[in-house]
Amino acid sequence: MPPESPSIFSRIVAREIPADIVYEDDRVIAFHDIAPQAPVHVVVTPKTEAFTDVVGLAAGDPELLAHMVDVARSIAEDLSDGQFRLVFNTGPASGQTVFHVHAHVLSGALEEGTLGTQ
Ligand code: 5GP
Repeated sequence: MPPESPSIFSRIVAREIPADIVYEDDRVIAFHDIAPQAPVHVVVTPKTEAFTDVVGLAAGDPELLAHMVDVARSIAEDLSDGQFRLVFNTGPASGQTVFHVHAHVLSGALEEGTLGTQ
């Protein structure tokens, strides 16, 4: 469980907080990041709050992680050219601010210095 429950992402799932949702099924939801760092910047997150980060998700439900990757692929095909970065910030020192596991799908021409370009 995340330290804050319901997490901000669970509140998006519940429609308590508005978001520009681009994909949803019974296991995941995806929406445009409120502070985009690339021409396409979409957050993909599971509906469950059971996992705070990708390490826990990979150990606990690898099939759900694989599904998130497939959703990311589909979003990059729909909204961009099919090529993308997939970023899982893991831990506060890495920049993780929401402790409900999520992937950043970043696509389009990335500028030097943005998330993922060191
Ligand atoms: P993290 O920093 O944990 O890897 O990623 C959290 C992401 O969630 C950030 O990129 C942040 O901009 C995004 N975010 C935080 N609150 C909201 C919100 O209310 N709506 C949307 N669409 N994105 C949010």
